[in-house]
Amino acid sequence: MGLDSLFSPPSPEGDAALEALRSVFGYESFRGHQGEIIRHVIAGNDALVLMPTGGGKSLCYQIPALVRRGVAVVVSPLIALMRDQVTALRQLGVRAAFLNSSLDAGEAREVERAMTRGELDLVYVAPERLVTPRFLDLLDRTDLALFALDEAHCVSQWGHDFRPEYLQLSILHERHPTVPRIALTATADAQTRAEIAEKLGLTEARVFLSSFDRPNITYRVVAKNSERQQLLAYLRDNHPEDAGIVYCMSRAKVEDVAAWLSAQGREALPYHAGLPPEVREANQDLFLKSEGMVMVATVAFGMGIDKPNVRFVAHLDPPKSLEAYYQETGRAGRDGLPASAWMAYGMSDVVGLRQLLEQSEAGDAHRRVERGKLEALLGFCETAHCRRQVLLNYFGETLAEPCGNCDTCLEPVETWDGTVAAQKALSAVYRTGQRYGAGHLIDVLRGNATDKVVQQQHDRLKTFGVGNDLSKAEWQSVFRQLVAAGFLTVDVEGYGGFRLTDTGVTVVKGGRPVRLRKDPVAEKRRGVRDSLRRSAAGRGRGEGVSRGEGRGTLSPADDALWHALRACRLELARDQGVPPYVIFHDSTLLEMVAERPLDRHAFARLPGVGARKLDLYADSFLEVIHRHA
Ligand code: ADP
Ligand code: ZN
Repeated sequence: MGLDSLFSPPSPEGDAALEALRSVFGYESFRGHQGEIIRHVIAGNDALVLMPTGGGKSLCYQIPALVRRGVAVVVSPLIALMRDQVTALRQLGVRAAFLNSSLDAGEAREVERAMTRGELDLVYVAPERLVTPRFLDLLDRTDLALFALDEAHCVSQWGHDFRPEYLQLSILHERHPTVPRIALTATADAQTRAEIAEKLGLTEARVFLSSFDRPNITYRVVAKNSERQQLLAYLRDNHPEDAGIVYCMSRAKVEDVAAWLSAQGREALPYHAGLPPEVREANQDLFLKSEGMVMVATVAFGMGIDKPNVRFVAHLDPPKSLEAYYQETGRAGRDGLPASAWMAYGMSDVVGLRQLLEQSEAGDAHRRVERGKLEALLGFCETAHCRRQVLLNYFGETLAEPCGNCDTCLEPVETWDGTVAAQKALSAVYRTGQRYGAGHLIDVLRGNATDKVVQQQHDRLKTFGVGNDLSKAEWQSVFRQLVAAGFLTVDVEGYGGFRLTDTGVTVVKGGRPVRLRKDPVAEKRRGVRDSLRRSAAGRGRGEGVSRGEGRGTLSPADDALWHALRACRLELARDQGVPPYVIFHDSTLLEMVAERPLDRHAFARLPGVGARKLDLYADSFLEVIHRHA
């Protein structure tokens, strides 16, 4: 293929969408529904796009914006998100700008003028600005290509990111009925989706629903014993140089863990809503613009983080629900390269979740919903089956086969008949008066005559010492699973002691068998370690990135080139004050390692290299490659 053919319509019918994909974005073909969606919008139709994070939503409106006449107006809820998108588009040579409160009046007027003159392809706008009379008037004077409503779940009052201004967006359609609209979201739950269509007046729009599976993410849940050491080992073994997020529940814990990781020699910063805005912004900026940084954060961090090479998301505390878990872990591996989701979860977490539920004062219906969500989360944590199947099933999707890329698939969990153990544990709870937590109960079961046991005369109970066959850790695991499964619940008023539930009583009476999982004793030292490089090595042999393990690692020469290319990218990024990934994604650098292009012609063929980036960056990277030839 000659250079010319790269920049002229490749298909006989001169498909403008494909032409833009190749020449501007440097990608060879559309993914999933992208092609269909893009052609549907180019033809002037409305679309509701439901696609997981990393699925490639942005192209679905960016390409129509380039192909259709006029300016595309993109509604986006966050300033950081707009800035990132515009930076990335400008790198591609696309005429893009944003309008939000970070601009002064003069700058804003400049953008408005460019809009009415048709000098822009895309304008990103904050929703509150969009519905002002001034902006509506501006729209009347602008030639409009389309409206894109990004993060459309913000319209849902019950969702996690409600933005009241989104409710007013139907005004766009009322005033400009012939301008096509495309709403996009990564929200996986059906209720929110229906609400989006209704509230945005898109019930007539064609719905494009993708699978919500994220095959490149490896899911792991480990039994918590010493969470910090476990986290450190996990990072050291799997992500020694990668950027990632560690979620914690409380602000104090965020700061502690960030400081501790730093003291252990990992670059780490804290992020939570209690930090001054300028600190938060600076930390976020550092995270985006560096390589290998760990962000320790509460859930205040994440929405609008477009960084494609977040390689892991770790939870030191359980998320609020499986929806939240899916959203939070979904921030890993946007670029499609191997990534991991890791959670440490233990007895105190289960107890905490149960207490939360017991305390909740919500009305019955609401409480039933909450209970359902909690049970689903616990079920995911405790499952002995494929975690991806459990997760997708929760969102109404069926995965026919176990995924082969989660801990329970990679290291199958044994289960055992825990009926007798459960009966012993539950009767220990009952006979001690339903007031004690696991520590004391285990002492009773294992026949430890501690002061407390003797004082309470629990050494005289029938259950005293009946549990010598299991270790302390095994009993911990039994109690955790009994609470998780709802045979025990937790007293909120007293000392957080366990109480039997109705189903727990059934178990004691022998009316119900109990199967338990055997927690893996030690974490194996494996995972997505160096999988990035493995995938590069695999590519060299003509394989794509896949979830397979054990492809071998990069040769020392390839490794050296990979680091040199990253250094080159970081320098180019710093010169311009932009995040490295807007220069090239990791996937493009890995292709450079695998293909080792030696001239512009070969360089142009790399995925992610369009006409403009070829111009801007080919020479710098080619020089590095030549040096390593
Ligand atoms: P989303 O907004 O759905 O989370 P993005 O639009 O950020 O996803 O795209 C995710 C990643 O996939 C980006 O790195 C993007 O460049 C890449 N990508 C999107 N479409 C394609 C394609 N057709 N071919 C190759 N890479 C693509
Ligand atoms: Zn699996």
